[in-house]
Amino acid sequence: MEKINLEKYKGIIFDMDGVIYNISEAIEKAVDDSVEKYKMNVKTEEILEELAHLIEEIQNFPVPKILLNSYDLLEVKFLEGLSYFKKLRIAIFLFNQFNKYKDAESSIYKGIDELIRNIYDKKLKLAILTNNKSQYAEDVLEKFNLTKFFDTIIGFNEVSEVKPSPEGILKIMNKWKIKPSETIFIGDMTTDVDAGKSANVKMVCVASGLAKKETLLGHNPDILVDNTEQLIKLFGL
Ligand SMILES: [Mg+2]
Repeated sequence: MEKINLEKYKGIIFDMDGVIYNISEAIEKAVDDSVEKYKMNVKTEEILEELAHLIEEIQNFPVPKILLNSYDLLEVKFLEGLSYFKKLRIAIFLFNQFNKYKDAESSIYKGIDELIRNIYDKKLKLAILTNNKSQYAEDVLEKFNLTKFFDTIIGFNEVSEVKPSPEGILKIMNKWKIKPSETIFIGDMTTDVDAGKSANVKMVCVASGLAKKETLLGHNPDILVDNTEQLIKLFGL
């Protein structure tokens, strides 16, 4: 298996959800609740990817923006054929359930804290780039004692365009004064792969469960690994 030679790199940028923080369980439970409550004829595992994107998009929008964009946002396959108001009701219920489960059911991926510590010990700079609020990322890092390892946290409030725009990655490299060839970005969604590719950095994708491997491969990440265990092996630390 391919290995990353860390001596070539000066900085590593991590996406939060799906790379460090595992929110799959919370999403799955929210979907199960919605499917049951609204007697939807869908299989949870088939709609997870679409929903993960929807949740990622919605959670950083202020309410007026959600409402203004709700028609487009709700053009998701699993709600196809339902009236607009039914879609809205299901989406709101789902999102509330997700928020309810998120804190209680979510944790960091096994071994990711050690990987972060080992990279930090090699004197590389570390950053978080999330489409969520930076405060959210700060809270998760704090909860799992990871705060001191991260030099920079960029959330949706710190950029004019969120991922798939490369803006956040460019901003971090600019701050660190390092080149794309010296930078690795690790993400789990197609939006991450697109952002990393546009920024010309080494794009490492971890197929941690929400996005399908084939979909991710279609966006041509430089490296794709199946899970956290493989991600750790990739760095050989
Ligand atoms: Mg993610």
